[in-house]
Amino acid sequence: MMKWLFLFALPMLFLACTKPAEPHTEIVLGTVCTVNAFKDGTKALYDELFATLSDIDDKFSTQKPYSELVALHDSAGIHPRTVSNDVFFVVQQACHFSALTDGAFDITIGPLVSLWGINTDHARIPTVQEIARALPLINWHHIMLDEKNTQIYLQQPEMSLDAGAIAKGYAADALVQILHAKNVRQALIDLGGNIYVFGKKSDGSPWRVGIKNPEHPYGTPLLVLTTEETSVVTSGVYERFLEQDGVHYHHILDKQTGYPVDNNLLSVTVVAPSSLTADALSTGLFVLGKEKGLEHAEKIGVEAIFIDDSRTIWTTPRIRNSLELLQEGYTFEK
Ligand code: AMP
Ligand code: MG
Repeated sequence: MMKWLFLFALPMLFLACTKPAEPHTEIVLGTVCTVNAFKDGTKALYDELFATLSDIDDKFSTQKPYSELVALHDSAGIHPRTVSNDVFFVVQQACHFSALTDGAFDITIGPLVSLWGINTDHARIPTVQEIARALPLINWHHIMLDEKNTQIYLQQPEMSLDAGAIAKGYAADALVQILHAKNVRQALIDLGGNIYVFGKKSDGSPWRVGIKNPEHPYGTPLLVLTTEETSVVTSGVYERFLEQDGVHYHHILDKQTGYPVDNNLLSVTVVAPSSLTADALSTGLFVLGKEKGLEHAEKIGVEAIFIDDSRTIWTTPRIRNSLELLQEGYTFEK
């Protein structure tokens, strides 16, 4: 009897180990994260990918009391802190992208983000005095980086970092490293709209990535981008917002005014091989606005798509031919 049981169980065990799993979805990093590794999507792979996402969430959260960003805030103006390589790298990269965007992207935006509380249960419009108190704290030049000791010091008391505009990109890149290490052939990563298409599709055709209509983000995509492996990241006014007295307050903040950026843009998409780059720049170029943003995109060497509230689509020249417009009423700026 035992022998029969064993012979029966062995192939079942084998099947359980090799059968590709379905795409895997979890709420991590404050958003819905999905990975589809198609035929290579085993449970073991998804376990490793999502453990990596949880680890990044634990380090970069501004809500979890044990996170490294909370620790940096607690010691702001007092002493430097030794941080993990992940946090050091992301903060270093954040400073690099602040420099590239003339400070439009600024990871020291923390005090302003917590005042607005957008996407929390205490979202509200801050008072003019509160904003005036927060603004001097937002200055990435006050981040001291000590690479040798992997230490970070926030020089002003009350300073805080918010990685909401860069952590998902970093996380997507971290998943891509795992996919490479595991010889995964193709995968689709979607971390709350922060997309990475990895490898080649099995039929050899290029990937087709939908770009949302910012006015109807849950409907049919407005555009489809045909592309080889890359990351596609969008910053849009529809993602996280607070509505009060008929006014829409979105989550991309202007550190000059303390209020959500008000420049007629509805969304900015950046396409780049590094998801961290695409994430930081989608936010930074949004803040810069379409003229300066397009100039910066070309200078930096990334592709970008700007959609404004007159339903006009502005792009860097090279990406234009890879885009297909799916809806009427929108036009490409020539
Ligand atoms: P994203 O959706 O990538 O554009 O990131 C927006 C998130 O980044 C917001 O929810 C804030 O947490 C944070 N953020 C808002 N404004 C800025 C800014 N000017 N620079 C850097 N991070 C920002
Ligand atoms: Mg971003």
